[in-house]
Amino acid sequence: MGLTMRIVYVNGDYLADTEAKISIFDRGFLFADGVYEVTSVLDGKLIDFTGHCTRLRRSLGELHMSLSLDDDQLLSIHRELVTRNALVEGLIYLQVTRGAADRDFVFPPADTPETVVLFTQEKPLIDSMLAARGQVIRTVEDQRWGRCDIKTVQLLFPSLAKMEAKAQGGDDAWLVRDGFVTEGSSNNAYIVLADGTIVTRDLSHSILSGITRKAVLECARKLQMKIEERPFTVEEALGAVEAFSTSASGFVSPVIEIDGHTIGEGKPGSTARQLREVYIAEMRKAAI
Ligand code: PMP
Repeated sequence: MGLTMRIVYVNGDYLADTEAKISIFDRGFLFADGVYEVTSVLDGKLIDFTGHCTRLRRSLGELHMSLSLDDDQLLSIHRELVTRNALVEGLIYLQVTRGAADRDFVFPPADTPETVVLFTQEKPLIDSMLAARGQVIRTVEDQRWGRCDIKTVQLLFPSLAKMEAKAQGGDDAWLVRDGFVTEGSSNNAYIVLADGTIVTRDLSHSILSGITRKAVLECARKLQMKIEERPFTVEEALGAVEAFSTSASGFVSPVIEIDGHTIGEGKPGSTARQLREVYIAEMRKAAI
């Protein structure tokens, strides 16, 4: 998809994207020294904005980065971008970096202003081709760093993994470390056992604590579904009756094939379908 013109936010200013400028000395550019969040927009409203703010603060804290904007200011900027871009359905991307300084592995002084960038992206979220058809997954060895719990902009390996999966006829990659699935290239991974139990990896430094994961597990609990948060192997996934992934922009996305093995009946399963419906309904109600 080509770039469409839009109004973006850069360090306090709302600008046409073609007018937006970032220093070549920005540490986000030179060191991937930055964190980000992606918040979905449905009906022109923000989905789980509080969850994204909470995780942003945690990512910043883990990297000893500061942000001069509070959550109310972040909310105003998000809303302003929705309005200025007449965004009905899609996403808002937010990135904070440690700012611009002479290139040095040592952090710049703490009073160096951070860089804050936000932009919108139109995307059909409800009528998703992958949700309707179901995803084809290829497993790829997880070669990311040891702090996958921090949402940094260092996304080269997930990008390579997705390309590898696509080269092998898949839609996305599930990453595997020591035989166990960690998560998808940009989503959390789940399988459903024959007795209906949902299995997803427990939170640790090995995966990102998905905002959608939290909300979807809450939906599953309300629906009296059984949940096990623990690692699962690729073999266990191949024998599952259902599989799916979750993310802010994919909501709940069924998986129909992993490494050439059909999952269940090879079509989106009922657990994933029900969770997707309930999650979307709950989030629509709570959107701000
Ligand atoms: N894991 C990874 C590696 C991700 O990049 C993402 C998407 N940001 C997720 C999980 C899902 O997180 P969320 O539900 O907050 O989008």
